[in-house]
Amino acid sequence: MAAQPFRSGYVSIIGRPNVGKSTLLNFLVGRKIAIITEKPQTTRNRILGVKTLPDAQIIFLDTPGIHKPPKLMNKMMVKAAFAALADVDVVVFITEVAKKIHPEDLFILKSLRRLKSPILLAINKIDLLAHRPGVNIDELIERYQSLLGFAETFQISALHGTNVDVLLEAVVKLLPEGPMYFPAETLTDQPEQFVVAEIIREKAMMLTHQEIPYSTGVIVDSIEEVGQGCKKHLRVTATIFVERPTQKMIIIGKDGQMLKKIGTLARQEVEAMLNCRVFLQLWVKVKEKWTEDRAMLKRMGI
Ligand code: GDP
Ligand code: MG
Repeated sequence: MAAQPFRSGYVSIIGRPNVGKSTLLNFLVGRKIAIITEKPQTTRNRILGVKTLPDAQIIFLDTPGIHKPPKLMNKMMVKAAFAALADVDVVVFITEVAKKIHPEDLFILKSLRRLKSPILLAINKIDLLAHRPGVNIDELIERYQSLLGFAETFQISALHGTNVDVLLEAVVKLLPEGPMYFPAETLTDQPEQFVVAEIIREKAMMLTHQEIPYSTGVIVDSIEEVGQGCKKHLRVTATIFVERPTQKMIIIGKDGQMLKKIGTLARQEVEAMLNCRVFLQLWVKVKEKWTEDRAMLKRMGI
C-alpha cells in the first residue's frame, strides 16, 4: 500500500449567525472547541479546534468580524478579517436551506470573491427540507454557485452528521502536504501551550515577513504558574526553531530588537487570552531540516 502524504492546514468556516457553524465544528472536533473557546481570546486567527485523522490534521480557525452583520463592521475590521482569511488553505462557506439567498450571505460572498483559496459550499440543515415544501435545493445551490465559483458543494446536516464525512474528505484533499502541528490527543489537556506556540510563531512570521511558514517552528518548553491569586503570573519559556543561521539572524534582529518585538507582541496576546500576567522568555535555535525530523515534530508537541 502506497503511503499517503500527511496533509495539514488551516480551514475557516464562514457563515452568518445561526446557520450552524458551531454545530458543525462541534460535530467535527467535539469537546476540544469548548475548552479552547472558554477563554476570551483576541487572537486574530483564533484556533477553534483541531481535527486529527490518520493522514491529515485540520486546524479550524475563527475569523472574527466576518460573521457580524455589515453595519457592525468598520472598514478596519473587515480588512483584518479578510486579511486573516487570505492565509487559510480552505474556506467552508456555510448557509442553510431556504427559498432564496439571504442578503447577509450576499455580502459575505461578495467579499470572498477576492480570495485565492478554494471555497466549499455547505448547505446545512437539509434535515429540514421535508418541513419546507417550497424549497428547491438544486435551484438554491445553482444560485449560490452562480455568485461564486465554489470548488464543490455539499448538502449537510451538522446536527445529524449527514454528509459531514464527505465534506471533511473534500477539505482534506484540498490541504497541502504538511506536518502535524498539534498532538493528536493531548490538545484537550493543555491547550495553552499549543495556542501560545502558535501565537509566537504568528508574530515571528508577521514581523519578519517570512515567506516560508513551515521553516519556522515553535516549541513551548514550559509554562509555569508563579504566585497565587491576583499576584499570579505565568512564566513561559519557548524556543523558535529555524532551518538556517541566516533565518536565526533575521529572527533575532539587530541588537536583539526583532526578538524583543516578537516577544512583546506575543506576550500581550497571550496575556489577553489567558487573562493573566505573563513573563515570556524566547530562544532561537537552528535545526536543519527540522520539518523532516520525526522526533523533532513530536517534540513540537506535535
Ligand atoms: P452558528 O451561529 O452558525 O454557530 O449556529 P449554531 O451552530 O449555533 O446553530 C444555530 C441553530 O441551528 C442551533 O439551534 C442548532 O441546533 C441549529 N442547527 C445547526 N445545524 C443544524 C442542522 O443540521 N439541522 C437542524 N435542524 N438544526 C441545526
Ligand atoms: Mg456559533
